[in-house]
Amino acid sequence: MSNNNSRHLFELAVKHIPGGVNSPVRAFKGVGGNPLFFKAGQDAYLIDADNNRYVDYVGGFGPLILGHCHEGVTEALRNQLQQGLAFGASTEAEVQIADKICELMPSIEKVRLVTSGTEATMSAIRLARGYTGRDRIVKFEGCYHGHVDGLLVKAGSGALTLGEPDSLGVPKAYTDLTHVLPYNDSAALESFFAENGDEIACVMVEPVAGNMNCVPPASCFLQALREHCSKHGAVLIFDEVMTGFRVALGGAQSIYDIEPDLTTIGKVIGGGLPIGAFGGKQEIMDMIAPLGSVYQAGTLAGSPLAVAAGLATLNLISEPGFHEQLTQRTGSLMSGLQERADQAGIPFTTNQVGAMFGCFFTEEKEVTQFSQVMSCNVDRFKHYFHTMLDNGVYLAPSAFEAGFVSSAHGEKEIQLTLDAAEKAFAALPK
Ligand SMILES: *Cc1c(COP(=O)(O)O)cnc(C)c1O
Repeated sequence: MSNNNSRHLFELAVKHIPGGVNSPVRAFKGVGGNPLFFKAGQDAYLIDADNNRYVDYVGGFGPLILGHCHEGVTEALRNQLQQGLAFGASTEAEVQIADKICELMPSIEKVRLVTSGTEATMSAIRLARGYTGRDRIVKFEGCYHGHVDGLLVKAGSGALTLGEPDSLGVPKAYTDLTHVLPYNDSAALESFFAENGDEIACVMVEPVAGNMNCVPPASCFLQALREHCSKHGAVLIFDEVMTGFRVALGGAQSIYDIEPDLTTIGKVIGGGLPIGAFGGKQEIMDMIAPLGSVYQAGTLAGSPLAVAAGLATLNLISEPGFHEQLTQRTGSLMSGLQERADQAGIPFTTNQVGAMFGCFFTEEKEVTQFSQVMSCNVDRFKHYFHTMLDNGVYLAPSAFEAGFVSSAHGEKEIQLTLDAAEKAFAALPK
């Protein structure tokens, strides 16, 4: 498999782009080698600059639940292109997507669109602080909520891959207000709240952690969060930027049946275009400008193109049975991988929630804790990653990212992946 064009583009890229990439998770630091450059996506496949084809399990890092270039999304974009790109004023489609989001996630009574997930979490925290009149916030180890200053403490995703859990340039005064608790640990939560509960503005959590690989919530963890927040008057924020409309049509909150006060979303709601949103209880949301005194704004917020792609996506995935089929297909991928790892005698386990999955090179039978994720065999992952790549399967270039299946992934793509995995497991150093 030739990678000459990618290699050449990377040499050019590093000259004027820091590290050659516009987001650190795209670099191959976590796996070694040079990042690939892509020129096209088709359904479940990516095509790189050397015309190699790969089954894609990155899906734009989450948005592409319909695969690449779904005709329904492309058509909506073509129509909007002819109508204009930015008006600096409201459009009918913004009303429609807001109605649709509130219909699919009933805990959201009002919603504000922004242009990225980071902006959504940043704004939701400001709102929670404004609403409660408190400054302290709580997050969990290994959870990533975008590159918001006060949230870059023990964060997941690129921050984990690069081994830089804390970033330079973040004033200590900001992170002093951020408390980090272990994920899935209800006892730690209990004692923390008993002591500090009345000073907490909000608790932000990924209801299924997807930035330390994929770690579902332990039973009762989200329930405990809900109870402590209600008892102490803290705002419970579910960061569903990744899980929203992916793990189920109604997001993780519909699966675990917990109603957060605020929810942040992104990724899927833009169908591949830049977008984010935060929403929730009317009483809280009405504190945002222009109704209230929590300021929040955006020149391109509600971008007609992003809204057109997002609305088309949300309508298409609302078809009955859409998520059931996606979940089932992801399930057969996971059981197929497990079978092949077992046959090859490789200690391996998987997690899955809907169309989101995680693979772990570990002796543990179940992965529920950040520390278990961190003790996985990263060298094995690197080796596995490269053999998969050589056999036409593109995984996220890090042992700490979740994988994504789209509706364009059919039996054929799953089989191709399992065949590649069989080779990859066999080729692993024992
Ligand atoms: C991707 C992600 C974000 C950040 O979204 P951006 O659009 O990259 O700013 C925030 N929270 C979670 C859970 C995410 O997965």
